Amino acid sequence: MTDKVIKILLVDDDEDDYIMTRDLLSGVEGTHYELQWIKTYDSAVEIIDQKNHDVYLFDYHLGEHTGLELLLQVIKNGCRAPIIMLTGQGDKELDMQAMKTGAADYLVKGHINSPLLERSIRYAIERKRSEEDIYRMAYYDILTNLPNRLLFRDRLKQAIGLAERYNRLGAVMFLDLDNFKRINDTFGHYTGDQLLKSTAERLKNCMRKCDSLSRQNVDDSVDTIARLGGDEFTIILTEIKHIEDSAKVAQRILGSLSEQFVLNDHEIFISASVGIAIYPHDGKDIDSILKNADAAMYHAKAEGKNNYQYYKQSMNASALEKLTMENDLRKALERKEFTLYYQPQIDIAKRKIVGLEALIRWHRTDKTVVLPADFIPLAEETGLIIPISNWVIHTACEQNKAWQAAGFSNIPISVNISNLQFQQKNFVNTIVQVLRDTGLRPGNIILEITESTIMHNADMVFATLYELSCMGLRLTIDDFGTGYSSLSYLKRIPLYSIKIDRSFIKELPDSPDDAAISKAIISMAHSLKLRVVAEGVETEQQLAFLSKQGCDEFQGFLFSRPLPADEIFKLLTGERNGAGLMLSSLHKISEPVQKT
Ligand code: C2E
Ligand code: MG
Ligand code: MG
Repeated sequence: MTDKVIKILLVDDDEDDYIMTRDLLSGVEGTHYELQWIKTYDSAVEIIDQKNHDVYLFDYHLGEHTGLELLLQVIKNGCRAPIIMLTGQGDKELDMQAMKTGAADYLVKGHINSPLLERSIRYAIERKRSEEDIYRMAYYDILTNLPNRLLFRDRLKQAIGLAERYNRLGAVMFLDLDNFKRINDTFGHYTGDQLLKSTAERLKNCMRKCDSLSRQNVDDSVDTIARLGGDEFTIILTEIKHIEDSAKVAQRILGSLSEQFVLNDHEIFISASVGIAIYPHDGKDIDSILKNADAAMYHAKAEGKNNYQYYKQSMNASALEKLTMENDLRKALERKEFTLYYQPQIDIAKRKIVGLEALIRWHRTDKTVVLPADFIPLAEETGLIIPISNWVIHTACEQNKAWQAAGFSNIPISVNISNLQFQQKNFVNTIVQVLRDTGLRPGNIILEITESTIMHNADMVFATLYELSCMGLRLTIDDFGTGYSSLSYLKRIPLYSIKIDRSFIKELPDSPDDAAISKAIISMAHSLKLRVVAEGVETEQQLAFLSKQGCDEFQGFLFSRPLPADEIFKLLTGERNGAGLMLSSLHKISEPVQKT
């Protein structure tokens, strides 16, 4: 037959049959077979999935299963190698059934000899090869080897079905090379074809890099690129998390195509226009999605080529804005665009600054100041929150150390800890390292965590919190009352304080509901021996109410907005010198502080 080793897997629960098959194969001259034998249905499914064999031989009887069931299963799993069925007796009906299901041949065990088996295997392999050739011609583009329009439509149909079932988003990109005709006219069709081939290679490379975005395995992602004809390519991105992920892929493709091609000694530069349609937003069936991606591509051409456009114009602006912000955010740390502001926390009874919360600000190159609410979510989404948070905690600790050196030794610094940061395996080590680097005592740091961080992976969180607390750090729950309502964890965590969320303070003292809630939180916290900090106190009435309820501390515009470090320094110095630090309003508090 050939010099090549033919790898065969026999699935048969009878050892005698294995010995017989082995002996028959060893009797074949001129071909080397490598026979592997397994007994069970389940291990067969697993091994066949690895696609390591050229031919499979299935016994009809496989314990609880039949060879036909196995045949159906592996074909469903995508097995494309030929399968020959073996059985103990001749049965025409079974024979037909096996062939209809997809078997390449059907042999009756007692009637097999070496030449028959060899011939059956050889024919099966040859037939499969020509089937594969026909399949490739029908479904693949000969020039680029990419799936053609037919296969693309089939893949898109599958992708839409999956997106619908699992409630996911996907995108179709329609790409057309700019001025391709000119390349053909200038360099000839042969070079034009080479360019299309090279374009296909670049697209494949881009998609491999985009794997994490589209969360598919590499082979699948290659198959989602298709050539529809001429210089038109399409790409399916399945399972995108955010609409703008597709813009990232488009950008990468445009970037990759803009690099020079060297073909037949010609240096060629090209560009492309890309239209993006998102399903199910821009269409629920193949034709409407394709039509809309095509329309978006024409829009990209009209916009001057070498760009991408979404089908819905609104998406262009928001995707661009988000991408620009993400790009800028990536550079912000090294460009030193972040600063920390600090907001004082006041002990209501002692009327003294007893803490400072570090709050990040982002000064963008266009001189705008971005508040955390506008970039922390993006930082979390992209994972950039980790280096940013490390910078925050390092800077805050260094600053606190500087204030201590200036004589303000008893003012701990509160740092907001994001969920993702807390979940890092080395979170505790990071804190240890910062303490070591800055020489700050652990008691000078208060970590602000939210209820959702606690409820997320609770057991791991409790262990980490205990570790931190044993090290001497203080812990507080930020925005208390806005997260989950399970209060049982309050007993289980070594907390120092809780911070009542601003939303409960805002309508005080007029809103009976908020009054009742804040009163209840204060009383509950005190019964657990926790300090209570009220957030967002803006009016004297709010402060008076909180003071009456025995709230321990407040933070808010009433006393001070978050300020840069040098202004905080002036404030602290003023307080030390007794020079009008306390707002007159604080002195006006007349009600005695009641502790519950
Ligand atoms: P937060 O930790 O609850 O911080 C308090 C927020 O309330 C701050 O907003 C502060 O400026 C604002 N605030 C304080 N007093 C008042 C007041 O009287 N009235 C009003 N209307 N607002 C007041 P900011 O600085 O914009 O921060 C918002 C949130 O962003 C923070 O809420 C915190 O969750 C997050 N954040 C800030 N800095 C960081 C950081 O370094 N890391 C992380 N992970 N999150 C941060
Ligand atoms: Mg906070
Ligand atoms: Mg808060």
